[in-house]
Amino acid sequence: MKFEEYPISDGIKKSISKQGFKKPTDIQYKAIPNILRGEDVLAIAQTGTGKTAAFVIPILHLLHVKKIIRKSAGIKCLVMAPTHELALQIHEVFVSLAKHTKVSSFCIHGGVDQDPQKEKLADGVDVLIATPGRLFDLVSQGDVKLSGLEILVLDEADHMLDLGFIKDIQDLMRHIPSRRQTLFFSATITEKIKKLAYSLVTNPIRIQISPKDPVAKNIEHAVAFIEMDDKRFFLGNMMQENPDRKTLVFVRTKVRAERLLKALERQELTAITIHGDKDQKAREESMQAFRTVSYTHLTLPTIYSV
Ligand code: AMP
Repeated sequence: MKFEEYPISDGIKKSISKQGFKKPTDIQYKAIPNILRGEDVLAIAQTGTGKTAAFVIPILHLLHVKKIIRKSAGIKCLVMAPTHELALQIHEVFVSLAKHTKVSSFCIHGGVDQDPQKEKLADGVDVLIATPGRLFDLVSQGDVKLSGLEILVLDEADHMLDLGFIKDIQDLMRHIPSRRQTLFFSATITEKIKKLAYSLVTNPIRIQISPKDPVAKNIEHAVAFIEMDDKRFFLGNMMQENPDRKTLVFVRTKVRAERLLKALERQELTAITIHGDKDQKAREESMQAFRTVSYTHLTLPTIYSV
C-alpha cells in the first residue's frame, strides 16, 4: 500500500512525498491505521525503523481534521522523549510534515532559558515535544497546561527509564486526563518497561518490529581487540587512513571523552565532544559541525558521546 491510498489529508501526503517517502515502513504499515482509529499502541521498535513518522503522520491527520471542525486552544498532543537531541529531531519531523496543515508544534527541553519557552507556550501550540525534566518544571509552575490533552506519546521509553525519568513521568500523569489515546514506543521490552507501559495504555494494539537484519545493509561490522594503551593510537591511525569519512565514537564517561579529544588533537585530528556537561548551545554546535563539515577537510570532526 502506498501513502497515496491512506485516508489522510492531501496536505500531509504532499509533505510525505516531499520527504521522498513512497511506501510506509513496516512499523508505519502496522501502526498508522490503528492510530487513525484512535487506538492505543504499544510498539517495540528501534530507531531507524521509521517509528517517528509512524506516530507523527496519523497524529497530524487527527489533529488537522479536528482543528477544521472546532477551534479549541491548548495542547492536544504531548510527545515525551529522553534527550534534547531526540526531542528536536521529533520536532523537525512534525514541522516538515505539518507544512500544509493547521497544526502547530513546539519543542521544550532543559539546558536553555525557560522564558522564551514560556512566551511561546502562552501563544498556544497543538503539539508539544518535551524532555520530562523541563516539562515537569513548566507544568509545576503552571506554564504548561495538559488538561485538554488528547494524545500522549512516549518515545524511547526504555531510555527514559534508564535516565531515571520514571518519577517525573509518574508525577506528570497526575496532570494528564486519563481519557486519552496513548502511544508507547520502546526499543527493548523488560519487566520494568512492561509495568510502565501497562500503567499508561488501555487495550493497546501490540506491535513488535524485529528486523531480520537489525543493522542496515550498508553498515559493516567488525570487532577489534586492542590493548588499553594502544586504543587511542589505533583510532587516530584509522581516522588518518580514512580522511574522507566522519567518525562517531562512543566512550564510557565524560572525562574520557575530553581526554580522547586532547589525544586526537595531539595527532592533529580535529574533534568535538558532546555530553551532558556541555550547555545546550555547545551541544547544538557540536551536532551542527558534525552534520555540515566539508568532506574535503583533511582533519575531520569526531563526536564523542557518553
Ligand atoms: P526513525 O526510525 O523515525 O528515526 O526514522 C529513520 C529514518 O527513516 C529517518 O531518516 C526517516 O526520514 C526515514 N523514513 C521514515 N519513514 C520512511 C519511509 N516511509 N520511507 C523512507 N524513509 C523513511
